Amino acid sequence: MAAGEPQADCLFCKILAGDVPATIVRETKDVVAFRDINPQAPTHVLVIPRAHYANAGELGAQAPELAGALLAEAAAVAAAEDLAEAGYRIVFNTGAGAGQTVFHVHAHLLGGRGLSWPPG
Ligand code: 5GP
Ligand code: ZN
Repeated sequence: MAAGEPQADCLFCKILAGDVPATIVRETKDVVAFRDINPQAPTHVLVIPRAHYANAGELGAQAPELAGALLAEAAAVAAAEDLAEAGYRIVFNTGAGAGQTVFHVHAHLLGGRGLSWPPG
């Protein structure tokens, strides 16, 4: 399997293919942002690369320019949602033990409420 190729059993690859519906908020040639189906904050958007990488570590190691584009797009979503001044959080759950359930790398962009630290 070549790095970045679509995976038949991947939910987010299915969203990218249009086989599973999603509310898309922004998209570029490399990155797509859509609303989380189970939002944990007033703004909860998932930002994903069109190419399939399992997690943030693989993306950063194998496609660092794409990782940068993903972060830039997360910030653009935050600005579009008017969160830049109040602040927001970008989270990459990595591995099942950290809560990752979909193994296509995604940034959670969370904002619109107070966010405590440390996270749960
Ligand atoms: P993880 O737990 O892997 O960090 O995050 C996966 C996220 O995907 C969860 O926040 C979950 O609510 C979201 N999610 C799961 N299935 C769907 C879906 O079919 N559509 C959308 N938009 N989000 C989903
Ligand atoms: Zn995928």
